[in-house]
Amino acid sequence: MSATRNKIITKSLQTNVWNQKVAGDLQLITSPLLEKFPNLVHGFTTRLGGESKAPYDSFNLGRHVEDEGVREDAIKNRARLCEALGLDFEKAAIPGQVHSSTVKSVEENHERPEMKSVDGLLTGSIGLPLILHFADCVPVIVYDPVRSVAGIFHAGWRGTASRIVRVGVEKMIGEYGCHAGDMVAAVGPAIGRCCYPTGEEAFQQLQKTVDYPDSLFGDMDGQKCPDLKAINAMQLMESGVEEVDVSHWCTACNPEIFYSHRQSGGITGRQAAIVALTR
Ligand SMILES: [Zn+2]
Repeated sequence: MSATRNKIITKSLQTNVWNQKVAGDLQLITSPLLEKFPNLVHGFTTRLGGESKAPYDSFNLGRHVEDEGVREDAIKNRARLCEALGLDFEKAAIPGQVHSSTVKSVEENHERPEMKSVDGLLTGSIGLPLILHFADCVPVIVYDPVRSVAGIFHAGWRGTASRIVRVGVEKMIGEYGCHAGDMVAAVGPAIGRCCYPTGEEAFQQLQKTVDYPDSLFGDMDGQKCPDLKAINAMQLMESGVEEVDVSHWCTACNPEIFYSHRQSGGITGRQAAIVALTR
């Protein structure tokens, strides 16, 4: 194994402590790395501080359920999130996620692309919030401060296996003239390998893309436990992104703070990741 690959693997397994912050009247989690950039607004929501009822309590942003009351509350919560960050909810881009590797660009004064079946968004427009939803899957934000382009990605095991972050980085390079070396990235709160035993299919699909080392998989009663945060970090670094900030939070270990599909048995709300460029 090459020294470069070894270094990338070691770095991808390093996590940083991301603290809870108050934004407006909300409890958000932010990346210490992304916080350094004054022209970027970002946040990863928690389930705290809203009024959604159990089992979606309390700051649910997902409209994945049939209950009309829950769906309406989610819209209000999305608007509250934008307001807390000083962003215009009317401009927000919020796609229908399907665990694909489809990434679309959204720009002010351009017709909005078809937003069904989209799991990654890019923008170079100031003040246009990009929002995705999560309950264990990996939220990733990529930012190029030189070209002023932001991207956000939803990477569960399927999105990770189809390397959605790599697709996103390549699109930033191809469509916006970005350089991977200028980009920074944050890998947010998601299920850790401490809580994520998967079937053989997930393991095989993940391994098919790159021959990941055993250090990126845990083991639980003979089942492989992929470290999806580390695998996404590794994919980013292999794409040329050198600075990647990986959150220490496991969503399933902390059900009082996060919605977790696994931990809840499947009936739960959704937290969001949000990013926008500012002046
Ligand atoms: Zn865990």
